[in-house]
This record gives sequence, structure tokens and C-alpha cells, in this order.
Amino acid sequence: MFSYVTLVTNEDYALGALALARSLAMTNAAWPLTVLAVREAPGLDALAAAGCRIVQADPPPLSAGFRQRHSRQSQHARAPFTKGNKPAFHDPLDNFAKLRLWQLEEFDRVVFLDADAIVIHNIDRLFGYPEFAAAPNLYESLADFHRLNSGVFVAQPSRRTFDAMLQALDQPDAFWPRTDQTFLQTYFPDWHGLPYIYNTLQYVWFNLPQLWKWDAIRVIHYQYEKPWEENHPKREQLGPLIETWRHVYEHGTLPPHLPSPPEPSP
Ligand code: UDP
Ligand code: MN
Repeated sequence: MFSYVTLVTNEDYALGALALARSLAMTNAAWPLTVLAVREAPGLDALAAAGCRIVQADPPPLSAGFRQRHSRQSQHARAPFTKGNKPAFHDPLDNFAKLRLWQLEEFDRVVFLDADAIVIHNIDRLFGYPEFAAAPNLYESLADFHRLNSGVFVAQPSRRTFDAMLQALDQPDAFWPRTDQTFLQTYFPDWHGLPYIYNTLQYVWFNLPQLWKWDAIRVIHYQYEKPWEENHPKREQLGPLIETWRHVYEHGTLPPHLPSPPEPSP
């Protein structure tokens, strides 16, 4: 048995996850979406009504020191974000709850998707990839290819792996600058690379527009600013992609006319 999995710890990400659920339905996904829900959040009922299975989970058991080092305030101070902005509702500590998916042993394999992603063409074939497969953290230049982005990945649930991960994660003084993403790249040094079309980061739109091929792109991932944020500094630049997200969220279909990406700068 397989499942798509996402993580929701608050109302904002529940809203994102609903767009994700609708996008999976839109692309005739063969497997359901399991929502790992840490804490009660308004919006979980709507996800259940949309056919998601809600699995309540506690935040992972992490030491007080670890939690302090990865609080929003200290994480932003120790590893400032220089390329984009995280919304106020993003708590870096919550990212580590993703690791709970390794406890879902009822599934032979899962495809994890961030709640700020939408699927625009079917991605069922990802279940044919082994653990650990992820796409590059590509949004600025070629130099991005050596890092992975943890917004989309293929994993094989196993409680043994989960326990081993927690051991490796919460070492004395451990600090993971980009939270689960840095950790997963370290834990799986031989990660398998997926093509960027499985996790196309929204900044590709303006930084690498020559890579924006609507026919090829399968997942759009709205990293940094979220398309449902009231006001964010990149609203103008990302307007067409925000409209695309909104259309999927509201209608469960792609807009009839997909916008053309900006001209590449010379
Ligand atoms: N997440 C969450 N609550 C939080 C932070 C993160 O539910 O406070 C989940 C959610 O699924 C989100 C993912 O973890 O999509 C990773 O965070 P985010 O997508 O904001 O990070 P980015 O893609 O901008 O690096
Ligand atoms: Mn994300």
C-alpha cells in the first residue's frame, strides 16, 4: 500500500493542504493523501471532507535544548534567510514533525509533499523510486544542484529508521540550519536525485524562467512566501503563479490559459 503524505500543524498549512488535496484529485492520483496533523487545527475537517485521512501525531520528542536552538527566533538569528521571507505562521521546529511519517508502517512507500505544493500533472510514478529520493533545491543557479529540497521526497516508513533518525537528530548542541532539510541531506548522503520538475520552486519563475515548461512541470512548490498570504513582498513578481494556485484551490482545475513565464534576462 502506498500513500501521499503531508504535514499540517496549524490553520494556514491546513489551507495549503486543501489546495494540495484538490490538485491530487485534479491529476487523478491513484493513492490517497494522509495528513499528519500535529495539534488540532481549524481546517482539518475540510481536509477529511475532501477525502484525506487525518493521522493525529504528537510533535517528536525533542530535548529542551534542541527545541530552544530551533525556535523561530533563534533559528532566524543563527541562520538568517537572505533570499526570501518565511511567513509569520511558519514555525521551524514544526518542520521536524515530518519525520513522523517513518512511523506509518502500514505503507510500503510514501511520497511526502509540503502543504505549500500543488501537483499539476500526475506523479504516481514517484512510488517506483527508492528511499531516499528528492529533487534539487534549485531556485537561483547551477550552484543549487548539490543540495536537496525536502518539500517533495520518496520514503519507506520504518520504525527502526524513525528511531535511528531521532538519535542522529537530537545530539548535544546539534543545530540544523535549514531544519529537516539539512538533516535529511545529512542522514541520506547518497540520496537519489529526482528531476526538478517534481519539485519546481516558485523562484524558478523569475530566476530561471527558461526552465519553466508547463508541459514538463509536475509539482509547483511555493517555498518562502505562501500564495495565500495577504501581503507579501514578492506578490507582484509571482502574481501569475499565485493566480494559478488560487484557481486550483477554488476550482480544482488548472486555469484555462497558463501564464507565460517572464523573458530570461540576458
Ligand atoms: N509546516 C507546518 N507548520 C509550520 C511549519 C511547517 O505545518 O509551522 C509543514 C507544512 O507542510 C509546510 C512544511 O512543513 O509546507 C515545510 O514548511 P514550509 O513549506 O513553510 O517551508 P519552505 O518550503 O518555505 O522551506
Ligand atoms: Mn514548502
